[in-house]
Amino acid sequence: MSLLARAADLDAADPLAAFRDRFLPAPSVVSYLDGNSLGRPLEATARLMDDFVRSRWGGRLIQGWTDGWLEWPLTLGDRLGAVALGAAPGQTVVADSTTVLLYKLARAAVDARPGRRKVVLDTDNFPTDRYVLEGIAAERNLSLVWISTDPATGITGDQLREVIDDDTALVLFSHVAYRSGWLADIPGINRIAHEAGALTMWDLCHSAGAVPIRLDEWGVDLAVGCSYKYLNGGPGAPAFAYLRSSLQDSLRQPIQGWMGHRAAFEMGPGYEAAPGIRALLSGTPPILAMVPMHANLDMLAEAGIEAVRTKSLLLTAYVLDLADEWLAPLGVEVVSPRDPARRGGHVTLRRPGFEKLLEPLWSAGVIPDYRRPDGLRIGPAPLSTSFTEVHQGMAVLRDLVEKHQ
Ligand SMILES: *Cc1c(COP(=O)(O)O)cnc(C)c1O
Repeated sequence: MSLLARAADLDAADPLAAFRDRFLPAPSVVSYLDGNSLGRPLEATARLMDDFVRSRWGGRLIQGWTDGWLEWPLTLGDRLGAVALGAAPGQTVVADSTTVLLYKLARAAVDARPGRRKVVLDTDNFPTDRYVLEGIAAERNLSLVWISTDPATGITGDQLREVIDDDTALVLFSHVAYRSGWLADIPGINRIAHEAGALTMWDLCHSAGAVPIRLDEWGVDLAVGCSYKYLNGGPGAPAFAYLRSSLQDSLRQPIQGWMGHRAAFEMGPGYEAAPGIRALLSGTPPILAMVPMHANLDMLAEAGIEAVRTKSLLLTAYVLDLADEWLAPLGVEVVSPRDPARRGGHVTLRRPGFEKLLEPLWSAGVIPDYRRPDGLRIGPAPLSTSFTEVHQGMAVLRDLVEKHQ
């Protein structure tokens, strides 16, 4: 069977195919392969935003704050926890950006392990994760222990075992490595960290909404992630943080603002942290930017994260087949894991000179994600991408690589 006929077959058999029609059309885009960087907006999001501005904000004005907006960080957090994170209520908030929440949680974590002087992380983690921890290490006089990861194998328990000890306060890794797409074994790595008495923190930016997550079951202590990638929240949409309930009394985040206060509207002297997860909040919640999340979580609940993962693995397997058949002979290398158990939601290809192809790809309406110096990430979001669309995009890429040999 030809690769194109296979795409048609896979589309015909796809139980999630109809979700694609719920997204706003992008007439100049032939193939959108960057769902792992910025998800597409739903038709429903445009309606919700318009309605929110006109009636909820425009019509109710400041009364809106008593219509429940103040609860959104917690109610949306609980919903996200149920739909995508495997988190029981009361442990997830929606707030800030991933970077700011990383800082708040990591600072709280290292302060909760006084006397321990080490934080373990990996050299391939997303820049903001590394920078934030460098800042905290300088502030708290800690030393960072760096694990060098091979993109083909990602972070493993064996690597952690070699460096962790009873001086380690915290370990921080990404669930899915943003570069290679490696899917880390969270429960296995957590066990090793916990045996050494360290806290565990996971960055879920590249897995939330694409890969099933079981934070409670896997013994995760802290986690952060963003809502604008597979969760389609829109550019700059707020992030989320998870803090295991058993740790909520002992961890204190450093940005003491009025929204994390026990009684924000008493506006009294002195900070007293709110009980529970609300203490992670600092300032006024980004209500407007949370509006899309309602539509996106409804959709994800309806589709089911397990079905999303099943389609995601079929999509990336299809990308791998196209890459092997068309691109490998042209010198393109697949960097991502082939083992579906260790593969996240995207596939990374490597070849010197990819940078020069970006402009012609975009002109042809094909949008993958370029990562310096020579990586091209193919991130087909399961709910908005068809197999035929992947075929179209990869065919344009093949022709361009051929032309630029
Ligand atoms: C996208 C991404 C971020 C982004 O952080 P922001 O504060 O939203 O800019 C952080 N970590 C990882 C792993 C990411 O993929």
